[in-house]
Amino acid sequence: MIPAEFDYVAPDSLDAALGALRDGGEDAKVLAGGHSLIPLMKLRLAAPSLLVDLRRVPGLSGVQRENGAFRIGPMTTHSAVEANADLGLASIVAATIADAQVRHRGTIGGSIAHGDPASDMPAVMLAAEGTMTVRGPGGERQVAAADFFRDYLTTAVEDGEILTGLTLPALDGYGFAYRKFNRRREDWAMVAVCALVKKAGDGSCEDVRIGLTNMGSVPLRASTAEAALRGRPLDPDSIAAAAEQAAEGTDPPGDLNATPDYKRHLARVLSRRVLEEAAAAAA
Ligand SMILES: Cc1cc2nc3c(=O)[nH]c(=O)nc-3n(C[C@H](O)[C@H](O)[C@H](O)COP(=O)(O)OP(=O)(O)OC[C@H]3O[C@@H](n4cnc5c(N)ncnc54)[C@H](O)[C@@H]3O)c2cc1C
Repeated sequence: MIPAEFDYVAPDSLDAALGALRDGGEDAKVLAGGHSLIPLMKLRLAAPSLLVDLRRVPGLSGVQRENGAFRIGPMTTHSAVEANADLGLASIVAATIADAQVRHRGTIGGSIAHGDPASDMPAVMLAAEGTMTVRGPGGERQVAAADFFRDYLTTAVEDGEILTGLTLPALDGYGFAYRKFNRRREDWAMVAVCALVKKAGDGSCEDVRIGLTNMGSVPLRASTAEAALRGRPLDPDSIAAAAEQAAEGTDPPGDLNATPDYKRHLARVLSRRVLEEAAAAAA
C-alpha cells in the first residue's frame, strides 16, 4: 500500500526537531528507524502530515556507562544493543527481535516510544526499573518505566515531545534470561518472559524481577511470582511454586495464535524456565 501524502524534515539539532514538531502540530510524528511507523502508514492506520526524522540529530545514539547504569541513546539500533554484551539482558533480548534487516534499522527508542505490548524491549526496561528521559516544549523530565507505558500503543511521550534517553540500571551480579514463544524465530512474541535474579550469600533469592511481554495492553511485572520467590531458596521447588503465579493479575488478549488461557499457561511455563536459567547464572 502507498501511504497518504506527508511532509518530511530531517533537522540537525534537537531544538530544531522540537521546533518542527511544534510547528507541525498534533499530526506531526517523530521518525526513528521507521520499522513500526512506516508499515502503519502504508496500511493507512497512521497518516501523519509531517515526519520529523531524528537521524541527523547528534547525541541520540550510543551507549555509555555512568553511575551504575547504562545511558542508551534512543536512536541506538537493535543490532547495536545486541552487539553490546555489557548490556546483559537487553543485549540477548535485542538478538530475538525480528530479523537482521529490522534490527539494523529499528531503534530501542522507537520500540519504547511506540508502546506495543508485544515488543520485546519494554518489559526489559520495566523489569530492570529503567527510566526514560523525555524532552518537550516544557523542558526535560524523567519517567520511570513503571509509569511510562500507559495503554496499548500509548506511552508517557506526549505530542510535541521526544524521547531523548533511556537509563538502564547495570544490575551487576544479577543472573538473567529471556524466553520468547513464537511460531517462527523472527516473529513477534506470542508471550515472552524475562527474569533478573540476585542471589544472597546463603544462596537464597535476594531479589527477582520478572517482565511479561504480550500479557496485557502494556508490559507487566509478575509481581505475585516475584514476591513468592524473594527470600526463598533458589531451588526447583521454590522456583516452580513462584512461576505458577506468574499470570496473576494479567489480562492477555486472545488472538489468532493463542487464547488468553494458553497465554497464561505460556507465562507460567516460560517463567519457570527463565527463573531456573537466571538463578543458575546469578553470581
Ligand atoms: C517485520 C517486522 C518484524 C518485527 N518484529 C519485532 C519483534 O519481534 N519484536 C519487537 O520488539 N519489534 C519488532 N518489530 C518492530 C521493530 O522493533 C521496530 O524497530 C520498533 O518497534 C520501532 O522502532 P523504530 O526505530 O523503527 O521506530 P519508528 O517506526 O520510526 O517509530 C515508532 C513510533 O515511535 C515514535 N518514536 C520513535 N522514536 C521516538 C523518539 N525518540 N521520541 C518520540 N517518539 C518516537 C514514532 O513517532 C512512532 O510513533 C518488527 C518490525 C518489523 C517491520
